Amino acid sequence: MKKRHEAPASVWNEEELLGGKRVRCLTIILSTPGCAWWRETGGCSMCGYNEKASDRSITGADILSQFNAGWKSFDNQSIVKVYTSGSFIDESEVPTDVRDEILSRVNACGAKMLFESRPEYVKPESMEECIKICPDIEVALGLESANDQILSKSINKGFTFGDYERAAKTALNTGATVRTYLLLKPPFLTEQEAIDDALRSISKAAPLSRVVTLNPINVQRKTKLERMWKGWAYRPPWLWSVVEVLIRAESGNSLLLSSMVGAGSERGPHNCGSCDSDVISSIDGFNLTQDRKKLDRRDCECMDRWAESLSIEEFSVAPGDHEKFFMR
Ligand SMILES: [Zn+2]
Repeated sequence: MKKRHEAPASVWNEEELLGGKRVRCLTIILSTPGCAWWRETGGCSMCGYNEKASDRSITGADILSQFNAGWKSFDNQSIVKVYTSGSFIDESEVPTDVRDEILSRVNACGAKMLFESRPEYVKPESMEECIKICPDIEVALGLESANDQILSKSINKGFTFGDYERAAKTALNTGATVRTYLLLKPPFLTEQEAIDDALRSISKAAPLSRVVTLNPINVQRKTKLERMWKGWAYRPPWLWSVVEVLIRAESGNSLLLSSMVGAGSERGPHNCGSCDSDVISSIDGFNLTQDRKKLDRRDCECMDRWAESLSIEEFSVAPGDHEKFFMR
């Protein structure tokens, strides 16, 4: 029997800055037939979204019923974010008529519409079609890193920084704004290399982006990264590394956010366990104010452990979870 897909994978409310003001956002995650890159190649090394929220039997009608169910939570939020496991404007994932229906419903309510796409679908034609229906669009591009070697060898992203740049400029030329997602700590990088890569990537993405979001890795189920993590060959980033990047980043005029999933847990960005919730709330405070002073409270003894792991990794042959290796 065909599984039913009439409810969205997830719906929630959150707050964010827009034009210097705190506004409410509605987020709807739709299950789809899955990201084309995942269908063709198995996808990115850390991405488990397709395991969770995709099924090849899902039809356009299913996607629209999910949107309708999620839309019941619309309560004049200023931003509506509609995510799929891959690209909202790839017609093999979301049929064009369904895409257009969703765009016109959001536009009719005067909200800013955010959707995510891989760069290859962000073309002048597709963007103009969308903008015609909904003039206030933000295109979210999951760049992850501005380093082509990391994109190809560590993430298996299947595009380059140049591809991202072209897509971002196309979106900007049609009048959309751009949000760039960056990853903190792709596999095979030491903690220090991950910090340095995030800082370089922020500097390169900021001039093209209204918002740059740093996503510290959260180890998702059934991914290649999960296999490394289970073998202690990978430790998700410390929250201290997130703070370090947010403090030192050169993000110019763009908003800098860190969006954390699973923070404070073993699979997500975490510190020692006792300071995690304080550090997480200071990062949340920074997200809503852009005030770096919110990140000042750095007084847990585990900062020394963090500094030590940065230096241990410098002389070891491979990154990994050295604390587990030496202490368990
Ligand atoms: Zn601590």
